[in-house]
Amino acid sequence: MLKLLTRQTCPSCGGARVRQHPPWAQFWREWKARKGTHVELQDGSVERWFQSQGHDQLPPEEVLCEICEGVGEVDGTISVPDLARLLKAADNGFSGEGPGVPPR
Ligand SMILES: [Zn+2]
Repeated sequence: MLKLLTRQTCPSCGGARVRQHPPWAQFWREWKARKGTHVELQDGSVERWFQSQGHDQLPPEEVLCEICEGVGEVDGTISVPDLARLLKAADNGFSGEGPGVPPR
């Protein structure tokens, strides 16, 4: 079956090329859950929290997106029938997201 190559904005990072580092995401979740203060962000509490999680120093807040590997876009394929369905949906007002991230 004929397929066409596609390229779309990475659905994981939204094209930003980076994502929040998972330990930082956990830190911010916990900080919000216990209603942390802005003072805590400057009094060494952040460093102590990361040390308690096994980090000798603060990790970077962002890491390269693992889905697009820092490109901001993902490549895929779409079959002609699927493309026809997308175009028909566009005619009906669908704004148009692509077929999604191809399986790796
Ligand atoms: Zn990405």
